[in-house]
Amino acid sequence: MDLSRTLAGLGTALLATALLTGPAHAAPNHAAPAGSGPAATPSTRDFGNGAERNDIAAVASGTAALYSAKAGAQGTGLGTDQAGSGWKPRHKGYPRQTALPVYPVNPEDRSIKLGLVPYHEIAPKLNALQKVSNRVSAEVVGKSAGGRDLYLVTVTAPESAAEAARQDRWRGLIEDDPRAAKRDRALKSGYKTPVWINANIHGNEWEGTDGALRVIERLATATDAATKSFLGRSRVYVTVTNNPDGRIAGTRANGAGFDINRDHATSSQPESRAVRDVVIGTQPFVMLDEHGYTGTTLIEPATPPHGQNYEYDLYIKHALPNAEGMEAAIQKLGYAETTRADIPFRDYAPGDWDDWPPIFTPMYAIYQGAIGHTVEIPLQVNNAAYTSLPVEELRRRSAVNTDVAAATIEAALTYADTNRTGLLAGQIEQFRRGWAGEPSPTIPDGFVPGFGPEDRYSTEFPRAYVIPQGTPAAARLVNHLVAHDIRVTRARHSFALNGRRYAAGTYLVDMHQPKRGLANVLLEAGRDISDLVPQMYDISGWSHRLLWGAPVDISRTAAPRVASSPVTRAAPTGSVEAPRGRDLSLTLRDGNDVRAVNELLNLGVKVRQTGASTVVVPAEARGEAASVAKTLGVRFTAARGPEGAPISPPVIAGAVAADELFALQEMGFPVRTVSTASLNAGSVDLSGVDTLIVSSGLSYAALNPAARAVVDGFLARGGGVVTRGATGAAFNAAARVLPATAVAGRGDANGVVTVSNEGSVVGAGSLPNSFVYSPLWFVGSGFVGPGFVGPGFTVEQRYGADPLVAGHWLPTEAGINGPEQAAGQAAVISGATAGGGRAVLFGTEPLFRAHPKGLYAQFARALFWSAS
Ligand SMILES: [Zn+2]
Repeated sequence: MDLSRTLAGLGTALLATALLTGPAHAAPNHAAPAGSGPAATPSTRDFGNGAERNDIAAVASGTAALYSAKAGAQGTGLGTDQAGSGWKPRHKGYPRQTALPVYPVNPEDRSIKLGLVPYHEIAPKLNALQKVSNRVSAEVVGKSAGGRDLYLVTVTAPESAAEAARQDRWRGLIEDDPRAAKRDRALKSGYKTPVWINANIHGNEWEGTDGALRVIERLATATDAATKSFLGRSRVYVTVTNNPDGRIAGTRANGAGFDINRDHATSSQPESRAVRDVVIGTQPFVMLDEHGYTGTTLIEPATPPHGQNYEYDLYIKHALPNAEGMEAAIQKLGYAETTRADIPFRDYAPGDWDDWPPIFTPMYAIYQGAIGHTVEIPLQVNNAAYTSLPVEELRRRSAVNTDVAAATIEAALTYADTNRTGLLAGQIEQFRRGWAGEPSPTIPDGFVPGFGPEDRYSTEFPRAYVIPQGTPAAARLVNHLVAHDIRVTRARHSFALNGRRYAAGTYLVDMHQPKRGLANVLLEAGRDISDLVPQMYDISGWSHRLLWGAPVDISRTAAPRVASSPVTRAAPTGSVEAPRGRDLSLTLRDGNDVRAVNELLNLGVKVRQTGASTVVVPAEARGEAASVAKTLGVRFTAARGPEGAPISPPVIAGAVAADELFALQEMGFPVRTVSTASLNAGSVDLSGVDTLIVSSGLSYAALNPAARAVVDGFLARGGGVVTRGATGAAFNAAARVLPATAVAGRGDANGVVTVSNEGSVVGAGSLPNSFVYSPLWFVGSGFVGPGFVGPGFTVEQRYGADPLVAGHWLPTEAGINGPEQAAGQAAVISGATAGGGRAVLFGTEPLFRAHPKGLYAQFARALFWSAS
């Protein structure tokens, strides 16, 4: 993490759009001056929905296109196939050495300037270590978005196949039958302590990789008895760089523009899926995620709000002393910059560095049984520092940072080894409570030093979640849960529960299971935490149940009474339910429905549209329809009549954020990416474009006269417009698209909201929930400038009467821009432009980080409608 995007920074960016009717943001800015050494005030984490999401337009080329092509080749669309990285621990002994493929020297690798190991040197280094040491095993556990190898190194004393199989059995026993594991004396003495180190998930926070390589090398080659015996009772797993694309390019994000350390609940990116599979397959007691740069070394545990689904007593009992052990280790380094660490739990105010959302690697890992820590190494070498500081100073800093990374890893290994009995007991207890369905215990004040009422978070686990089958959304959700090692079963017969009848084949998530915390954190609605802390750092609300489009019922207390079978993969859902010879109808409810339309259009099928949300496929294309029904799980029914206007593949230009580009590609929309810069350079034009999307990196005010003429000409000939967020609203105001003024909620407000659906384009058939980040709403306001003759707008969707379901949304200090002001206001609007085109403006976030899959079709319907 770095300091470049702060709360105040976003507020400024929003205010700069000049369309806001009030202060966008009033949260304090805690940012320490970058690279200033020990910080007097707490470091600020990167603000989640940073300015770049609205200011930098994605470019559809290179890895984004590559990834899209790969996703398309799977033919499943939109993450219905989340089976994972393909990596599974192999059942053989150690070492399990493989010759890693070696890649050409890349002199452009940004690590080189810092004196660090460039990506192309990692494989040769690991290959050499495997040659000299039978303690080291290296393998490829996945590919990055840019197609680069993701390495897992395991360091342990050699094991025979039988010994390794016994370790696997014990690992399984801890999760599957923790009571038996607790009684098993051989397990207690013989189970090797698993520790996992994840490095370089943010590509421009380099030195975790270098520190980890140093530790691997020491463990591989040390000849002392202590190391030898340590490796006899431990397995050290290291994902050496979780983001090779970013390591090479010097970017925080991966090659597809995603922050992987925000993706763990969504699994949209191959890097997060790979480490998900590693944490499930290795079940570590302790894990570190090595980041930078916060001035002072920062080591979690975090401040409140604490995730309410943790067994937090089991976590904090070890997390705090482990952090203090790491602090002691960096103090011993003797640098002026390492005299202390910031431990947020101990040192910061609530809300300054929380562990609330399961989107961060260590928070996600807690649900998988680990004591997870983010570690922030101190000295900034990225962003402005990378280009402005002398090379010698950068290398001095990187050397200190590497020492800090290595010291924290060594200290964590020592802690895990010293406390292996307690850590094993804790992991067993976590899974035991899950199986038993026991409430999480109430933790007393002073349980660890500093634990007080502000740290006490808990939830009531329901008895079961019930997911009726038959839609692509349900299949996607089930596959997602299963890929995360959540146990899902399928009813063999029909059954009744809570007065409702469910068909055979219905999916069940019995919450008496070892990873119930993870199941619940994904499926529960969440909580409105606005009154609990003054601000939050990243998303505070999410819910796969409310936002992914699958109906999910909650059984609070009653267990389903029906025989059921374990699910390893959701059953296919596609169908063509119409007599032969009949035209086929498809309703655009899910992103997969949209992808099906785009695939049919690409095949040359003469698709007709009979409304914003329904298309008709001619009877003669039944074969093509059956084919996409099979691959995408969509359902065709008999069309009622021959009506409908033919549609052609919409030609879309987009100034969009990287996550939106990705989501659009998931739905099968090719997007010609544009930006202020590309329009000003004259390198793109809008000829032939049906709809222009504006949500990031396109400012009408910043266009030069020629570029402005291109946009004006596009609007004058009736081009369609779809906008999202403040950048889109600013475009609407400046280019006079619809006579609506956007009002901004507080800039850091985010979460799950209720909406009422009214309009026929976006509203019809949409979910009663939506997602917002920096929410907007729209009020009528004629532009009083000359020449505007817009006819008004239609409200597609309104915020509910008490809109915030889960998340954090406070009014500003002036008491405005809060959910009370948003209640009942227009969240999404549509209308006709002065040029005769159609426009849709979103104040919500239907594509945010490729997460709210159940909202995708809203955006697609806006595109089809505005393009026609
Ligand atoms: Zn980071």
